[in-house]
Amino acid sequence: MARRHLTKKEARGLAAQQVDRLFELAGHEARSGRDERATRYVSLALRVGERYKVPATHKRTYCPSCHAFFAPPRNVRVRTSRRKLSVSCLRCGFVQRIPIGKERRGQ
Ligand SMILES: [Zn+2]
Repeated sequence: MARRHLTKKEARGLAAQQVDRLFELAGHEARSGRDERATRYVSLALRVGERYKVPATHKRTYCPSCHAFFAPPRNVRVRTSRRKLSVSCLRCGFVQRIPIGKERRGQ
């Protein structure tokens, strides 16, 4: 059986679907307490996404440092302070600080 050549656009579409699916699975595993599996799915999804330049739509659902899928409140702590949201990964201790509020100086 001949393999049909995929255009870049088609490949990217399929990759995006696969990334969505992997994040879905990761969420399922994380909610069932299987963190290592969830982490593995996130790593896979990121690899596929990188390879095909899939837009990052699942940001903030996982740890950018250790790829743990966040299942609040079990493995992530979210706090606000000084107009920032601190998202701490309880697996590796990585802290993301996300500004809140729409005002931005210098723009
Ligand atoms: Zn982490």
